[in-house]
This record gives sequence, C-alpha cells and structure tokens, in this order.
Amino acid sequence: MLTVTTRAELRAELARARADAAVLGGGRLALVPTMGYLHEGHLTLVDEARRRADVVAMSVFVNPLQFAPQEDLARYPRDPDGDAEKARERGVDLLFMPDVAELYPHEPRVLVTPGALAERWEGAIRPGHFAGVLTVVAKLFHLLQPDVALFGQKDLQQATLVRAMVRDLDFPLDVVVVPTVREPDGLAMSSRNVYLSREERGQALVLSRALRRVEHAWRMGERQADTLREIGRDELGAQPQVSVDYFSLADLETLEPIFGTCDHGAAVMVAARVGRTRLIDNVILTPNTGHVTRS
Ligand code: AMP
Repeated sequence: MLTVTTRAELRAELARARADAAVLGGGRLALVPTMGYLHEGHLTLVDEARRRADVVAMSVFVNPLQFAPQEDLARYPRDPDGDAEKARERGVDLLFMPDVAELYPHEPRVLVTPGALAERWEGAIRPGHFAGVLTVVAKLFHLLQPDVALFGQKDLQQATLVRAMVRDLDFPLDVVVVPTVREPDGLAMSSRNVYLSREERGQALVLSRALRRVEHAWRMGERQADTLREIGRDELGAQPQVSVDYFSLADLETLEPIFGTCDHGAAVMVAARVGRTRLIDNVILTPNTGHVTRS
C-alpha cells in the first residue's frame, strides 16, 4: 500500500497507476472516503470496492468544513497509524491522508450548496454540514477521479445527497451504497461509539431496537406511516436518558416525510443524543424487506 499526504504526490501516483493500467488494459479506480478511526463498517466498503475495481483508494480526512463550531471536531477520534495498518491489511492500494492545510490552503470561497434534500433531518440540526460534506467529496472526486465511490447506508442522507450531486453535476462515476455494519448486539458501528461510556453504550441500543421493531411491524404488513412512527417512538420513549432529535419515515428518493400509507417503501431514520454523543441510524423498508422466498 502506498500512503500519500499531498495532492502533488497523489497526482503523480495516480498517473503512474493509470499508465500501468493502460499497459495492462483497463483498470478501474474505486474511492472510499472516510474520516478515519477505521472500523469494520469502513473496511466493508473496502471489500465492496475491491469487488468493483482494480485499484482501491481510501481517503482519511477529518473535514473541518462539515463541523459547526460547537461540534466535536477537536475531540473527533484519530489514529492515523492504526488506520494505515487496517487499510493495508484489508487491501487498500492507495491511502490519501492529507492535512487540513493541504486540502484547504486558504479559506474556500466556493462551496457545493445542496438543495432541499439537505434541509431536513441532519441538515436541519446541523446547518451547513452537508455543504461541507459535498464540498470535500467533490474535491476528492476531482483529485482522485474514481470510476466508483463507496458510501455507507449508515449515513443515508449523506449518501442520497452524494448521489444527487453526482447526477446533477455530471460527475463521471458510479456511487455505490453499502448496507450498515452492526455490532453483534445491533449497535451501528461508528467512530463516535468510542465516546460512549459502558452505561451509555447500553442505552444506545434503543436506536437499533426501535428500528427493528418498525421493520418487524412492516414485515407483518403494517403500512400506515403514522403507526410505524409511533411504534418506533414508543420504543425510544422507553429509554428516557436518550434524547431523540428525530425519528422519521421518509421517502427513499426525496427524504420528505411520509404521511398516510407507505406501500412502496420508506427510509426509517433516527438521530439521538446519548450523553454528549450524537448517534444516527436507519433502516430501509422495501416491499421485499424480510420476505422469505420459498422454492
Ligand atoms: P466516516 O468516517 O464516519 O465519515 O464514514 C466514512 C464512510 O463509511 C461513510 O460513507 C459512512 O457512511 C461509512 N460508514 C460509517 N459507518 C458505517 C457502518 N457501520 N456500516 C457501513 N458503512 C459505514
């Protein structure tokens, strides 16, 4: 694995990889963008990247542009050496680990502004967050020019916005969204889980439990959005130490809330604070969710 920290080195190495690929006839590049402190969720994106490309690149960059001043930028967990080791073991070919001055040599004057998709849910609670995300993702797409980029369903609104940006701004690449990887007890893996005390870790399980209950009701045939929302909110209410920001059923394309029936499916999204830690999770309900096919 090659590790590069500057844009100049990155350009040189990519040119070399492309020249080699041309000799070998083809060669697709996949990009897995991350903020590091790697866990099995990130590494599953690497596995999926490997299935879809010849060269797998990963970026590790804690992007200040997507953190509001009162958020956890300064204490966001970091472990560059551990990350490099995990990425190498999992088969990453090219690791891009720039520092802030390298990606933002001066205060950016132009940002990618997301539209209505970013106004709800995470965007409503974290104003400016998705402009920061899309700006850094656009920069990474320009710098690495991947053929395919991989994102986790864990950050569903982010993945939906990246897809929209790629389509609306004609980035020549495919976006692949990979299902959420969970701990054995259901907690969605996240770099931020390290903030949780033992007690909070137990309380945090209510998020995935609420999602599972809604999924179960859906599988049993419940299609009323209000009923499904109530089921999830009831479960969350059983753990009053967890402070819920939102628990929503939303359209899979527009992420607008669904009222009435949801026969075609829905995204069920939750965000909550457990102590000082903010966690998000979701499940996608589709007409096939949980169906058992018999032969
Ligand atoms: P982050 O480092 O948190 O910015 O995440 C980098 C990428 O990994 C994003 O596309 C996330 O959605 C994805 N990711 C984070 N956690 C998980 C998880 N538990 N399962 C699958 N993908 C994940």
